[in-house]
Amino acid sequence: MKELTKLTDSLIPSERMPLLFVGHGSPANAIEDNVFNRKWAEIGKQMPRPQAILCISAHWLTSGTFVTAMEKPRTIHDFSGFSDELFRQQYSVPGSPEMAEFVQQMQPKDLIRPNFDWGLDHGTWSVLKPMFPMADIPVFQLSIDYSKPPEFHFELARQLAKLREKGVMVIGSGNIVHNLRLLQFNEQIPEWASDFDTKIANWIETNDAQSVVNFQKMGSLAKMAHPSYDHFLPLIYALGFKSKDEFPEFFNTGFQLGSISMRSVIWK
Ligand code: ZN
Repeated sequence: MKELTKLTDSLIPSERMPLLFVGHGSPANAIEDNVFNRKWAEIGKQMPRPQAILCISAHWLTSGTFVTAMEKPRTIHDFSGFSDELFRQQYSVPGSPEMAEFVQQMQPKDLIRPNFDWGLDHGTWSVLKPMFPMADIPVFQLSIDYSKPPEFHFELARQLAKLREKGVMVIGSGNIVHNLRLLQFNEQIPEWASDFDTKIANWIETNDAQSVVNFQKMGSLAKMAHPSYDHFLPLIYALGFKSKDEFPEFFNTGFQLGSISMRSVIWK
């Protein structure tokens, strides 16, 4: 406990930092000039400057929960079939070993463990590079223990929520609808995709986090929207980090290739 007090004291208290859920879509959104990443850039300019950014990305699934604890996280190109230019991209931000330590100490011993070899996957850097192009804000990631049910993730996020009052901006990076098997190259949005997206948006709007956490009760519609639900869990984290008195603003409410909802949310 002594250690925790010391660390807490060394972190500068802040106004509650904004909370985001970002639909990241294609990795190419990191560099393509499009409506989605133009909005990311605009949001980055409007934000108060955080002391650090914590990202929960759909692309870091683990058994057990980990936090990146290295000084210099590498840029991970965890995709295939994209341009050389995309593979050359780097996002050379500092990590935050201090925040990583603090996050571990907020939980019972060993529930969150440090990681020194992950870095920043594209769920994180493809969004942050357009949003904070100066690359001067420390970034760290929390992994998603994919063996755990949705309630676990919601509860864990709730317990970490006070990070937002320690200068940490939290971003969940996934997609509200994400079915790569049913991409529509003519950009037509199937009815099931817009149905699921609208239902979730309504629950976010009415502050009904529990219905979002229980999304699997939607049965076949949930299965269509998420054959695997890795891209949905970052939204559940975001809802856990949210305070009761915050209201959502949606942005990027379109689709990419028909079956990927880019709907994103900011709470502030
Ligand atoms: Zn993704």
